[in-house]
Amino acid sequence: MPYVVRRPDRNLWEQSYVPETVRGLGVTLRHFFRNVFGRRDTVTLLYPEQRRPYPPRFRGLHRLTQRDDGAPRCTACLCCQTACPAECIHIVAGEYPPEHPLAHVEKYPVEFWIDELRCVSCGLCVEACPCDAIRMDTGLHPRPVEARPHLIYERNLLLSISDTAGNVHTANPRKK
Ligand code: SF4
Ligand code: SF4
Repeated sequence: MPYVVRRPDRNLWEQSYVPETVRGLGVTLRHFFRNVFGRRDTVTLLYPEQRRPYPPRFRGLHRLTQRDDGAPRCTACLCCQTACPAECIHIVAGEYPPEHPLAHVEKYPVEFWIDELRCVSCGLCVEACPCDAIRMDTGLHPRPVEARPHLIYERNLLLSISDTAGNVHTANPRKK
């Protein structure tokens, strides 16, 4: 059975929306003058000189963890790339040279980049990684940039980022 929505009873004065428009402008002007001359309700900050502290659970930008010799812990298994719903991780796997102790054991990322503009900060890449090679514990927000390519973070940049305590290694002692 159809439901008939009752139209509100408005007189011509209300129907003109003039009083509500004036009332809305009054609220805007009240806040404007109070903030310009009193600065009591200002919620904006003078970024980047002033920064609002992030909550403790804020993940932050990605980083790639390092081995003790500075090499990436990542084994280029592609689990993070596969799990990423935004398809913003790109990895090219490479073989270690024959004389390397990890030759024929595991691979390494010749290329590894993340498009931070497409990332939705879901953390699935971190959950999918079997090596604790990728983490989101930096507490950092992406820097303001002038061009989209500047937010494609490549392997060496990701390796250079530390966690909030300045650590570039894994924070998980179970991972060798
Ligand atoms: S946080 Fe989510 S969207 Fe961002 S790179 Fe990881 S899996 Fe992809
Ligand atoms: S970061 Fe982790 S999940 Fe992603 S390719 Fe490297 S080892 Fe695999």
